[in-house]
Amino acid sequence: ARAAHWATRGEMAAGLAVEIRNPLAGIAGVREIVGRDLPADSPAIEVLGEVRHEVVHINKIVSELLEIARPKSPVFRPGNLVAVAEHAALFARDQATHRKVNLEVVKGEPLPELQFDNGQIHQVLLNLLLNAVQACDEGGLVRVDFMADESTATVRVTDTGKGIPPAVLPNIFRPFFTTKGDGTGLGLSLARRMVEDHGGRLEATSVIDQGSCFKLI
Ligand code: ADP
Repeated sequence: ARAAHWATRGEMAAGLAVEIRNPLAGIAGVREIVGRDLPADSPAIEVLGEVRHEVVHINKIVSELLEIARPKSPVFRPGNLVAVAEHAALFARDQATHRKVNLEVVKGEPLPELQFDNGQIHQVLLNLLLNAVQACDEGGLVRVDFMADESTATVRVTDTGKGIPPAVLPNIFRPFFTTKGDGTGLGLSLARRMVEDHGGRLEATSVIDQGSCFKLI
């Protein structure tokens, strides 16, 4: 039933993606041409910047929809989970610095050799990191750490942000659930699916006003 549910949703999304991407490419092209001929002090430059921002945002939504539409099976290769987390943290650091949030990756004990899809786990961790950074106020802390025993490895992304109300917590992994003005609500549902495709679990705990912890097991 679950596979069938994703299939219909997926077909719809794939159709929609084409319908949206074509005119979007047109808008991006026109923006480019108009921008080229504007004098450097034109007030229209700011408006064009906003158009670019929105085009990128719509494109992100479409990409996430497409990923739901055509889920890719993970390609398992031996990899270094800590290195992947550090790489994802590099991408999130820009936003963290901008919001004056501290972001640290605590390496800890070396992990056993693991097999996973590098690109997918990178995407999962980046999503958790960006959510964590966005939940924090100035001076907040986002920490990534790792644990392992013989059979499992765990990555934790902990933040000191605003937390998630108990009534909201059961909804955060649902597709399209978002509390952000410009959120897609697709990040965590995709993340959970990718982790489950790896035979793992993605769990969240949270205390309001103290922060949240996402565990990838
Ligand atoms: P989006 O980021 O586009 O809203 P997600 O699926 O990544 O979509 O997240 C869904 C919702 O879960 C967010 O809108 C937010 O309300 C909540 N959430 C996720 N991570 C955190 C976090 N670390 N702290 C507080 N709320 C969070």
